[in-house]
Amino acid sequence: MPEPTPKYAPLVTASGLTVDMPLGRDGNSVRIVDNIDFSIGVGERVALVGESGSGKSLTARALMRLDRLARLSGRIDFDGQDLLKLSEREMTRYRGSAIAMVFQDPMSFLDPLMTIGDQVAETLRIRGVGKAEARKRALAVLDELGVDRAAERLDAYPHEFSGGMRQRVVLAMALVGEPRLLIADEPTTALDVRVQDQVLDLLDDVSARRGLAVLFITHDLGVVAGFAERVMVMYSGRIVEDGEVEQVFAHPKHPYTRGLIKAVPRIDQDLHKLYAIPGAPPPPLARPSGCPFHPRCSESFDRCVSELPAVLNVGGERVACHLHDPLRV
Ligand code: SF4
Repeated sequence: MPEPTPKYAPLVTASGLTVDMPLGRDGNSVRIVDNIDFSIGVGERVALVGESGSGKSLTARALMRLDRLARLSGRIDFDGQDLLKLSEREMTRYRGSAIAMVFQDPMSFLDPLMTIGDQVAETLRIRGVGKAEARKRALAVLDELGVDRAAERLDAYPHEFSGGMRQRVVLAMALVGEPRLLIADEPTTALDVRVQDQVLDLLDDVSARRGLAVLFITHDLGVVAGFAERVMVMYSGRIVEDGEVEQVFAHPKHPYTRGLIKAVPRIDQDLHKLYAIPGAPPPPLARPSGCPFHPRCSESFDRCVSELPAVLNVGGERVACHLHDPLRV
C-alpha cells in the first residue's frame, strides 16, 4: 500500500483505483484511470501533474464520486471508511464536509443571479444549518480568505467581483464546510500571474492554518515547485512517478518526468529552441502495448514494447519504468 510522506498520518488512500467510462449504450467502456495506488496525508500538499488526457481530473473527481456515469473499482479509504462502499446518500455527507473541490473557472461555477453570501452559505444550508448561522459562517470564511469588506459584500453578485476575488469566493464555498481534503483542479490557470500568486499564497496559508490536505491538479511545474511537498506524475491513466518535489525535480527518475521538466521554458532560453516531448499522449482507446510511453520514449528497449512496468520503490520514490528494475533485460 502506498504511504504518504512519512511525517504525515494517512488521510486518504486509493488502492487499485480504476475509472471506466461507458461508451454508448452497448455496455462497452473505456479505461481512463488504470489501477492506481496513492495516499495523501493529513495536512499534506500533493500535486498531480501530467498532460491533458492523462486522467488527472478524473482521478480527483473519483475521490468525490462526482461522475455519476463513471464505473469505479478498487478502494478509496478516507479516515478508515471505503468511500466506494458508501450509498449515494452517505456520500453526499462526505462531499463538502470531508472532501471539497475548487475548479478552474470561478465564473462558470458561480450562479450570476445569486448573492455571494447565499452561495457560500448554501453548502451549509444543504446540510441543515440554519440561515443565520450559515450566513455567519459564510462571513467568517470570506473574512479568513481576505475578501475586502466581506460583511458589506455578502449581498453582492459575482459580476461585482474581480477574477481573483471570485476565486476567493469559490474557495470560500469549498472551505465553509471545513473539509479535511481540498482538491484544487487547475484553480489558477485562468488567472493572471499576479493573481495566481495571491491565490497560491492564500491556499498555502489556509492549508497550514487549518491542517488542510490539498491535492493540486496542474500542468504547471512552476506552481508545483512553489506549492507542493510531493508530486505524482500521471501518464495515460497511471501514476508513473511519485516522490518529494525537491527530489523529483533535482533527479527525475522516469523518462516522462524528465521530458516534462525539460519542456519548462527558461527565462534565458532561445524561443526557437524550446523543447517538447515528441509525439502526443495516446487516446485511452488506443493505448500502446507494454509501457504506454514507449512510442515517445528515447530510452525504450524491447521489454518496454511488450510488458507494462510495475511500480517500483526507487530510493524512497515510486517509479513505473523498466529502467529501474534490477533484473532489467
Ligand atoms: Fe521508457 Fe521503457 Fe521506462 Fe517506459 S518503461 S519509460 S518506455 S524506458
